[in-house]
Amino acid sequence: MRTDVAIIGAGPAGLLLAHLLAQDGVESIVIEARTKEYVAARIRAGILESSSVDLLRSVGVGAGVDAGGEEHRGIYLQWPSERHHLDFVDLVGRSVWVYGQTQLQADLVAAGEAAGQQAYYGTSDAALHDLETDRPYVTFTDSDGAAQRVDAAAIAGCDGAFGPSRAAMPADQQESWERVYPFSWLGILADVAPSTDELIYAWHPDGFALHSMRSATVSRLYLQVPNGTDVADWSDERIWGALATRLGHGQNGWQLNPGPITEKSVLPMRSFVQSPMRHGRLFLAGDAAHTVPPTGAKGLNLAIADVALLAPALGALVHKNDTAAADAYSSTALRRVWRCEHFSWWMTSMLHLSGDPFDAQLQLSQLRWVTSSTAGAAGLAENYAGLPIGF
Ligand SMILES: Cc1cc2nc3c(=O)[nH]c(=O)nc-3n(C[C@H](O)[C@H](O)[C@H](O)COP(=O)(O)OP(=O)(O)OC[C@H]3O[C@@H](n4cnc5c(N)ncnc54)[C@H](O)[C@@H]3O)c2cc1C
Repeated sequence: MRTDVAIIGAGPAGLLLAHLLAQDGVESIVIEARTKEYVAARIRAGILESSSVDLLRSVGVGAGVDAGGEEHRGIYLQWPSERHHLDFVDLVGRSVWVYGQTQLQADLVAAGEAAGQQAYYGTSDAALHDLETDRPYVTFTDSDGAAQRVDAAAIAGCDGAFGPSRAAMPADQQESWERVYPFSWLGILADVAPSTDELIYAWHPDGFALHSMRSATVSRLYLQVPNGTDVADWSDERIWGALATRLGHGQNGWQLNPGPITEKSVLPMRSFVQSPMRHGRLFLAGDAAHTVPPTGAKGLNLAIADVALLAPALGALVHKNDTAAADAYSSTALRRVWRCEHFSWWMTSMLHLSGDPFDAQLQLSQLRWVTSSTAGAAGLAENYAGLPIGF
């Protein structure tokens, strides 16, 4: 097969890139290892920055967010006996949207199908070749076991942290940075109406807790747990008990309403950046190039911002052989990546117990500052609600 851009990975980065390219008249073929059903069911992120929502609307895939998303003006930050609201709209004029990654994934699949996007699911053995030429290609085995080859003008590596694209970057021409945190998140999805109108981020001597949500009837909650935690050790009763304690059930009349838990998983916390995000005709986007701990709700938004930059760069490369934007892609994208890396690390460091009592006092001081100083609050709000695409 021959196409303009071979896209490896059908997560949000890969599917949105295919959509943006198609709008610009650039053909692509998407190659995904998992089945369509598996990808559709993955429970992951749930917060969209205002710039992500603006972009989705502007390219015709915002109807789902408008119909089923919930706009939030800000978040609550709390520690024992105190809860404060940060109003992002008042502080920086921007809001965020609660919209599950599963919903966005479904919108992007529907848009691709309506446009006749070529996509191979359930593939194996994807391998990248001739990246340093202007005729790179991808080989893979399709779901029927047949060997396939896609020749392209460029390859977009949108295959997450463990795909073949990151590994295809020559080791002597790249640098990477990593921080592994000494704790994980135990996340649950529950069929119960959220007990809060906006997200609650809670510092607590037992560990961090987050009350998030996916809709008016589905809640998403997280607990800080030690690395290596086995979900089997956490009964539903134990989870709801820990959430009630850390989120302050009973304080000032606030109640946490428990409900049936439909999903439970442990998510390790990691920061990672690989640079550059380009080698020859291979361009990395989303989790293929970077990982953030989920505390700042940045992973999905960074994937969207990457492909918003990459699509016009590939359009210019493919249509006009104009390499300027493609040459600038990595350094431009990395500016925002490092801003989000810092913000995600900062939120994580401010809210998670390290076990060091000195750290705990610094965290409480920081929390008092961001909730009492307009300048402190505006800094958090600007980063959380998201900087403009292209920052
Ligand atoms: C387990 C998990 C839980 C998360 N939870 C949260 C959360 O609670 N809150 C939050 O804000 N963020 C969360 N995130 C982060 C957020 O979901 C990601 O940042 C986002 O999915 C990035 O999109 P992406 O398209 O770059 O990568 P992905 O969504 O990972 O998509 C990459 C795609 O590439 C495919 N692929 C991999 N290898 C191959 C191969 N060899 N051949 C072909 N295809 C391949 C994968 O199957 C996948 O479909 C989570 C991430 C993970 C991994």
